[in-house]
Amino acid sequence: MNVCRICKGQLEERRVTRLQEYNGKWYIIENLPALVCRQCGETYYTPQAHDRVIDLITGDAEPVRVEQVAVLDAG
Ligand SMILES: [Zn+2]
Repeated sequence: MNVCRICKGQLEERRVTRLQEYNGKWYIIENLPALVCRQCGETYYTPQAHDRVIDLITGDAEPVRVEQVAVLDAG
């Protein structure tokens, strides 16, 4: 895949930060390889990148740091 499914823009390989929920907990994964549309910014992950996220979350990798996250209620 080298064009965006939404706008047909060019995709380029980049390292991105992804937020992922797993079993009710949120994880921030930095430096994840992804394909990002140059035109609209849509991000695409390969199946390998997705597997890497799950491996990191379910494995025994030590967090590089722990962040506090602000939770806001729009209700
Ligand atoms: Zn696009």
